Amino acid sequence: MTRKKGERLFGGIDIGGTKILAMIVDEKGAIISMSKKKTKGESGFKSVCERAAGVLREAADIENIPLKSLSAVGVGVPVPVLADGTTPTAANLPGWANAPLIKTMESLTARPCFGENDCNAGTYGEYVWGAGKNAKTLIGFFVGTGFGGGVVFHGELVTGENNMASELGHIIVHEGGRICGCGHRGCLEAYASKAGMARRLAWETVIEGRKSMLTQAVPDGNFSTIKSSVLQEAYRRGDPVAVDALNELALYLGVGVANYINIFGPDLVVIGGGIFEALGKELLPKVKESARQRTFPEASFKDTKITLTQLGDYAVGLGIVAYAKSRLDGKPGK
Ligand SMILES: [Zn+2]
Repeated sequence: MTRKKGERLFGGIDIGGTKILAMIVDEKGAIISMSKKKTKGESGFKSVCERAAGVLREAADIENIPLKSLSAVGVGVPVPVLADGTTPTAANLPGWANAPLIKTMESLTARPCFGENDCNAGTYGEYVWGAGKNAKTLIGFFVGTGFGGGVVFHGELVTGENNMASELGHIIVHEGGRICGCGHRGCLEAYASKAGMARRLAWETVIEGRKSMLTQAVPDGNFSTIKSSVLQEAYRRGDPVAVDALNELALYLGVGVANYINIFGPDLVVIGGGIFEALGKELLPKVKESARQRTFPEASFKDTKITLTQLGDYAVGLGIVAYAKSRLDGKPGK
């Protein structure tokens, strides 16, 4: 690929629970090269950071780009990142509680590093280079095995005074309702994610004995690992168990969307993640209808566009680059 002289390049690393994706990106959001590796989270914090730096080096090597030529490196992680560059908790990654993420990545890459939670990064990516290019205030929802999201208000990610806010999946939408992975009851994530749906699917197929083609797809009975493509097929074929569960997911997501429209009055809401990449066409109208019925005043629903995300699997990698660039330049937004 030919590159303009003087053009700045950035590194973006998306450290997920199962895989690490690293990319080299130019300052307009074009991906120059990419590399991927398993996370091997059980190997601990230091080892995951070393793997992450290694994957970035591999991505750079593809185009013979020396790491030292990168202006900065963004690191997206599945936990919050505090202002001092540490990670306070370790949800999916053992050994990450109070880990010095940014200090460690800067010493491994010898570049300035900037870190954010992956869902915040993904939302920021959509804001700068995805569906939200023309938006001022954007709310992003990512619906897959879990539930994630973020809020960008006039170019700034809303992360609260504690850097842990915008946990969009843990607003309570059903007091005393279904138990959530976080330990509380009735969270949005307990209804609008595969993990949440899994409880309903197990109950209906095992306890109530409802017949479903989904049962063959998960011989171990763990519906939270079901592939989005399987849900897509079952929904499109009219499998009653799948249709009921996914329609419920859309209904509850609409409840969440209405709540966030009422708080922020965004001009754009984007919805992505595995389930919506597979069934966005079918489920988005149902989410919109559910949100329309619950937004107050009605005009605020009409003022908000609700659409699907555009960056897919690259949202976090691109978003964390956009974030690193904005931090390096001291200029939020696009
Ligand atoms: Zn929760």
